[in-house]
Amino acid sequence: MTAAAMAVVVATTSAMANLTDPSNPSGTIVDRFADIEVMRYAVPGFNELSLNQKMLIYYLTEAAISGRDILWGQNGKYNLALRSLLEDMYAKYQGDKTSPEFLAFEKYLKQVEFGNGIYHHYSTDKFVPGFSEKWFDATLKSEDLDLSKYGEPATLKKLIFDPSFLPKRVNQAAGQDLIVTSANNLYDGVTQAEVEAYYASRKDTTDLTPVSYGLNTRVIKNPQGEVVEQVYKVGGLYSEAIERIVANLEKALPYAESQIQKDVIAKLISFYRTGNLKEFDEYSILWVDDTKSKVDFVNGFIESYGDPLGMTGAWESIVNFRNDAASKRTEIISGNAQWFENNSPVDPRFRKPHVKGVTAKVINAAILAGDAYPASPIGINLPNANWIRAAHGSKSVTIENLTQAYDDAAHGNGFNEEFVIDEPTRRLLDEYLFITDNLHTDLHECLGHASGQLLPGVDPDALKAHGSTLEETRADLFALYYLADPKLLELGLLDNPDAYKAEYYKFMLNGLMTQLMRIEPGKDVEEAHMRNRKLISEWVLEKGAPDNVVELVKIDGKTFVRINDYEKLRALFGQLLGEIQRIKSEGDYAAGEALVEKYAVKVDPTLHKEVLDRYAKLNIAPYKGFVNPVYTPVKDADGNITDVTISFEEGYLPQMFRYSRDYSTLPHEN
Ligand code: ZN
Repeated sequence: MTAAAMAVVVATTSAMANLTDPSNPSGTIVDRFADIEVMRYAVPGFNELSLNQKMLIYYLTEAAISGRDILWGQNGKYNLALRSLLEDMYAKYQGDKTSPEFLAFEKYLKQVEFGNGIYHHYSTDKFVPGFSEKWFDATLKSEDLDLSKYGEPATLKKLIFDPSFLPKRVNQAAGQDLIVTSANNLYDGVTQAEVEAYYASRKDTTDLTPVSYGLNTRVIKNPQGEVVEQVYKVGGLYSEAIERIVANLEKALPYAESQIQKDVIAKLISFYRTGNLKEFDEYSILWVDDTKSKVDFVNGFIESYGDPLGMTGAWESIVNFRNDAASKRTEIISGNAQWFENNSPVDPRFRKPHVKGVTAKVINAAILAGDAYPASPIGINLPNANWIRAAHGSKSVTIENLTQAYDDAAHGNGFNEEFVIDEPTRRLLDEYLFITDNLHTDLHECLGHASGQLLPGVDPDALKAHGSTLEETRADLFALYYLADPKLLELGLLDNPDAYKAEYYKFMLNGLMTQLMRIEPGKDVEEAHMRNRKLISEWVLEKGAPDNVVELVKIDGKTFVRINDYEKLRALFGQLLGEIQRIKSEGDYAAGEALVEKYAVKVDPTLHKEVLDRYAKLNIAPYKGFVNPVYTPVKDADGNITDVTISFEEGYLPQMFRYSRDYSTLPHEN
């Protein structure tokens, strides 16, 4: 897999608790802890599906939850042991549940559940417990819990209490051995140089249809000292979980909506049995070709952000079905893909003469699992393999019931009043941000990632560690540039020529200021999407300075973003898009690195502190995630399933505990 092709859109909306209509779960806050807010999403249209479609969704959601332990295992060797231990302690605890130590323990447990392990899902830093080792030991003793039942006691205690032991899941710091210093469980006993040499020896650079090397493996050293891959498959690594996924996919099979969807599911089952990446590519091609089925799903080893080398895919699943009314929007965009490509502000040599199969739709998620749960992307563009995208196209989706939940949760949280410069701009956001944010995601996914071409002979991995950031930058710029294009009005996608300004303002505000609330004081920006947004907004701030296009102004001692010239801002987005596309098309690593290092990484400590202080007063959680709805089959007297019902009552920890109780498959250590 090439890092450059990774394609997830992360929500930037800043939401906060509201008083939601109890009959509508969308945006209802179910839990709030540390820097996290957990909310519900509605699943509009589920009850109107046919029984056949509901059954298909039901078994696919079971297949989704069945893979939960895989991601926990991938995220860290001791995560499953830790989860068992913490959940048992929590369930058994008979002491004072109002004591500060217990409350700190509960917060820690919630953080670990949210991170699918002991690392923050976004920063990938290890969580710091707020309870003492003394309290922990005393509680184990009083509740009669034997630490050795979960693993080697000294190791488990170091894991929790020693901040220097396996401190970070994904280390991207330049100049270090990224494999040795990353605590994920994707490698064991090997150095970065050994892994790179291993893949270099296996990669056939003349192969025009290369498999995504390493996508479904852990790389280790065998007892003979050779570097080898352990394959995730039935009979291989994580076999018990994969067997259960396969069993549910088999149950889903009879309910497939078409022959091609049957083929998709059957091929995925076969891939899980063999672990053969050629089969995964065959599956991906079938999956891209199935554009008709209403119900669709992702289930597999997909995004490689968790691997500092961008090889191994984190396990994830999203089951969904098409929102037909909203999909008209993306059909219009895809239907005009070639027009957008032909008119993009990049050197014609870097444009695709024939944009292939950019299919796009708007979906409602029915379940989120693995790497997409509890924190979830709001848009997806798959598959990731570059050659498949070039030859067969890709499928792009906007997950509208999640964006709706963010939007519902964001109203009235005080964010706009604090950070948006004036009332007219706030009104603009109220009126047009939801639609322009969705359009941004559509354009980013359906057109942005699919646009452009490499010059002949350019290595798709040429941008190496900066590949993901620059790819996201490219897709965002493509979206930003076209959001302001009169073409969108002509196509009926927007009804006001000023609507795009809502998204422009939010993007600049987020990139220059408010996304900093996700960064701890003194730290750099590391995550690819955040770097991308910072790169774009800092670059246009600087390049637009002579014309005063955008500025940071002080009002009553507070910093605000002021956009003075939206048209020039658009021109700057176009100019930067031209340069980023050139960097990608020519594989100009040095230029890409220079841009990232100059604009995307370093944080102004004074502004950072101001943002954090202002943010703290609002009590808004910087990160959001979701609890899933619960699907229950309804049976008649003979045991036949006559319906599947959906409910939204389950709480955050109860859902986690139920999943652990009913879907645990793997041993404590993996
Ligand atoms: Zn993207």
